[in-house]
Amino acid sequence: MSTPAATDFVARAGHVLTMGPAGDLTDGAVAAEQGRIAAVGPFAAVRSRYPHLPVIGDAHGILLPGLVNAHTHFSEALLSGMGEDLSIWVWGARVLLPTMAHLTREMARVGTLFRGAELIRSGVTTVNDMFCHANPAEFASLGVVDALEELGLRGVACFGAEDMAWKAFVPLPVPRILDEHHELARRAAATRRIGFRLGVGTILAQTDALLEQSAALARQQGWGVHTHLAEVREEKTEAQLRWGVSTVERAEAVGLLAAGCVAGHGVWVSGAEMDRLAATGTAIIHNPTANMILASGVCPLGELAHRGVRLALGTDGMASNDSQNMIEVLKLGALLQKVHHQDPAAADARQMLRLATIGGATALGLGAVTGSLEVGKQADLVRLDGASFGAAVLHDPYQQLVHGAGPEAVADVWVDGVPLLRDGAFVSARPRDLVPRVRELAAQLARAGRLAKLSCLAR
Ligand SMILES: [Zn+2]
Repeated sequence: MSTPAATDFVARAGHVLTMGPAGDLTDGAVAAEQGRIAAVGPFAAVRSRYPHLPVIGDAHGILLPGLVNAHTHFSEALLSGMGEDLSIWVWGARVLLPTMAHLTREMARVGTLFRGAELIRSGVTTVNDMFCHANPAEFASLGVVDALEELGLRGVACFGAEDMAWKAFVPLPVPRILDEHHELARRAAATRRIGFRLGVGTILAQTDALLEQSAALARQQGWGVHTHLAEVREEKTEAQLRWGVSTVERAEAVGLLAAGCVAGHGVWVSGAEMDRLAATGTAIIHNPTANMILASGVCPLGELAHRGVRLALGTDGMASNDSQNMIEVLKLGALLQKVHHQDPAAADARQMLRLATIGGATALGLGAVTGSLEVGKQADLVRLDGASFGAAVLHDPYQQLVHGAGPEAVADVWVDGVPLLRDGAFVSARPRDLVPRVRELAAQLARAGRLAKLSCLAR
C-alpha cells in the first residue's frame, strides 16, 4: 500500500463536538482524506475503515470544527494596546483616522501574518476581515490576501471603505475606492481559500454617493457585503439627524441588506429592526470584547436569536480588542450576557460554540464548506490536548472549552486537512521571527499617525 498523503489522517479525541447532525461523540474520530472529511464516528469504527492512516490524538481532549472569526480588522494589526479610556467616536478620531492614510500593503501583509498566527493559536480556521485604510498610493488591502494565502487560513477579504472628510482625514475619491474593491475581488478570486465581500466601513462614514454606488456595485456583481451596524447609541442620533432614519433603515433603503449582508455589532437595534435583519437574512456578528472595551453596550443576543436573526462571533480589530484570542471571545460572550441579565442561564457555552462554528460559517455563506464535522465538508479541525490545563478534566467539554481553556490547550489546527499547528507548534506561520519587523512597522505607523500621546513607540 502506498504512503498516505500528509493531508490524510484520523484525528481522535475523548469528546468530538461535531456541531452537526452527528451530535457529540465520546471517544470519537474524524477521518480526513484529500482535504475533506471522509468519516465521522466512534474511534473504533473509523479506525477499522482507515487502518492505514496515521492517528493523531488519543482518548482524551476535544476535537471540534475550526472556529470562525466572523469580524475583524487586520488594518489594526499594529494598533493594539492604546486608548482604553476612549469612547468610540473619540477613539476612531484619535487612533484610527490619523493612521489610515499611512497603511501600506506591506503593513497589511506583515500584520496579517502576525495576527493570523494568533488566530491559528486560538483555534480559528476561517476569518472574515475588513481592512480599512485611505492610502492613495497603494491597494493596501490586498496585503491581507497575500498573508492569508501564505498562512493557509480560510478567509474572506474586504476593503472597509470610508469617504467622509473629517478634520485632517483626507478620503479617497469614490472611483478610486471602487477600483480597490475590484482589485481585491480579483486577487481573492486567484486563491483557493479566500473569498471577497464589498466593504462599507460604516454607513455613517460614507457619503451618500459612495453608499449608493457601493450597494449598486454589490448587486451588479453578486458580491456579499460586510459592514458595521448599530454599534453605539450615538450612531442612532447621528443617523436620525442626517437622514431621519436609523443606519439599519438606511442600509436597507439603499439595498445593502439585500446583498447577503454581514454586519458587526447590532447592539442598538429595535424590535422592528431585528425583524428586518431577520427578513433580509442579514447576519449580526457579536463582538463582546470590543463592545466591553469601548463601552458600546450589550448586544441583545437572546432577542436577536428569538426573532430569527443569523448570529456569529468575532474578535473585532486589534485597536478595540488588543488581541485575536477567539477562545476569550467565547467566554466573554457568555459572561457578558450572564452579568447583564443577572441570570447565569442567559447564555451558555454550547450556544457560544455554535455561534463560533456553524453560526459563523453560515453567516459567511460557507455553511456547506466548514463550521461542522460532517462527511464531505472540508477538513477544518481543531484538537485540544487532553493533557493541557484547559482540557484535562472534562466533566462537560463545552463548559470546559469555553470557560476553562485558552490558546495553550490548542494542539492541532487543520484547514483543508493541511496542518497549520501540529502538537502546539506552528507549521505555516513564523510569528516569533516576524516580531522585529512587526515592531518596526508598528512604530512607523504610530509616528506617521502622530500618536505620541497614546504610544510609547511614537515618541
Ligand atoms: Zn469592526
